Amino acid sequence: MIIAIDGPAGAGKSTVCKMLAKRLGFAYLDTGAMYRAVAWALETAPSHRSLSQTDLEDQKAGELLERLPLRFVIERGRLEIFWAQKSLSEELRGPQVTEAASRLSRLPAIRQFLVARQRELASQGPDFVAEGRDTTTVVFPEAELKVFLTADLKTRAKRRCEEYRAKGVELPLEKVEEMLAQRDHADSMRDHSPMRRAENAFLLDTSGLCVEEVVERLAQKARNLSPALSDGP
Ligand code: C5P
Repeated sequence: MIIAIDGPAGAGKSTVCKMLAKRLGFAYLDTGAMYRAVAWALETAPSHRSLSQTDLEDQKAGELLERLPLRFVIERGRLEIFWAQKSLSEELRGPQVTEAASRLSRLPAIRQFLVARQRELASQGPDFVAEGRDTTTVVFPEAELKVFLTADLKTRAKRRCEEYRAKGVELPLEKVEEMLAQRDHADSMRDHSPMRRAENAFLLDTSGLCVEEVVERLAQKARNLSPALSDGP
């Protein structure tokens, strides 16, 4: 079974997807990490700095991307990303990579390259929770369960502020609200794979819900589709 979860920044996607995958015994496919990895590879890995935006808009961009020593594998139910022998993780979370991932994810060559990798990973089966902007609309439109997770802007901004605070960064709520609104706008308006709710996606507004309630509702939906599913930890 594939459960695909989409929605705006700060709706709680990552936390919910990780917990849901664990609960059901599914693998967790974080497609955002794949965009971050390509951004890191193109802008930070020293040997590939020579690739310019123009190269990536060129028709040969697909071949260039294929030649990068990036590997995506599912190990113990999680996506692992390797640059040659090096495992990538924390280096993908910095602000520079976040900005580059958002900017480069607009390029069709990068989207095509990653969508193909995502489908390959899912074809290894059996069960996945796939998180990301276009997972319900483009990557897995045939997913058994599609979810659009959202929350009002204030709630999302509050959650983001708390996440930043946990990392030792203090930002005013208004500033975070503004950043999220801008990102929503950019993600919804872009030409390729804009953020939108798939027609038959289940809409869940998490504003008044705690994470356990959200996970429980989604686990129940999945169990309704497949009663044999486990109810793990
Ligand atoms: O989810 P995360 O913040 O890690 O994603 C990083 C960036 O990658 C997002 O800002 C978004 O622009 C892009 N992305 C995407 N399609 C996906 C997942 C992420 O365009 N399926």
